[in-house]
Amino acid sequence: MSLFSELANAFYDLVFGGQCAGCGADGQAACAACRRRLRSTPRECRPVPSPVGLPRPVCVADYDGAVRGLLLGHKEHGRYALSRVLGDALAAAVAVVVPPGEREAPYLLVPVPSRPGMVRRRGHDPVLRMARVAAARLRRRGHRARLLPALRVVRRLRDQSELDAAGRTANLAGAFGVWPRAAGELEGRFAVVVDDILTTGETAAEATRALREAGARVVGVATVAATTRRFPPRS
Ligand SMILES: [Zn+2]
Repeated sequence: MSLFSELANAFYDLVFGGQCAGCGADGQAACAACRRRLRSTPRECRPVPSPVGLPRPVCVADYDGAVRGLLLGHKEHGRYALSRVLGDALAAAVAVVVPPGEREAPYLLVPVPSRPGMVRRRGHDPVLRMARVAAARLRRRGHRARLLPALRVVRRLRDQSELDAAGRTANLAGAFGVWPRAAGELEGRFAVVVDDILTTGETAAEATRALREAGARVVGVATVAATTRRFPPRS
């Protein structure tokens, strides 16, 4: 973590540390009411339209209001106290994605990679942090889940939020690759792609493509939240 982001996060903690990142209530980083929103029953959240090759996507909450606040507080302001509650939500989504017959077999949680520049600016990799918590939680529940940060960004990416649907697809095509050190661990293995938010599904579909190319059997995508926005095809 850079000194700047460390200082920025420490400052943020000093000012907002005593408030819920979801609703601003005094007290913990996530108040009881906001935590409850992250304990909803996981549901399938397939975007419309659904990108080609996107395996079953499951999320826990809509990306709005308090849930948005919790995810942003963790991601952008380094409120690491939120990793646990967000990681628990992610674990619940993973547990729904993994077919009942596969839970006793070892499987991999593979986080969607962040751009290296983003990780430097934020001072941490929020998805990796949540995935670590989720893997530990699942193992305590008897799953043979293992975190494998197998993916990396292999070429320069533009910020997805600046682009329309067609632009996102083009921006992401071939964007992810497998770290050489992880390549041998993917062949024939069950894998779940994990991320914080599902929007158009393009990012998760690209992660899936890269993992499948390396021989992994990707059974689904688990995220904490999903946007309810719909993305009509462009005329
Ligand atoms: Zn709250």
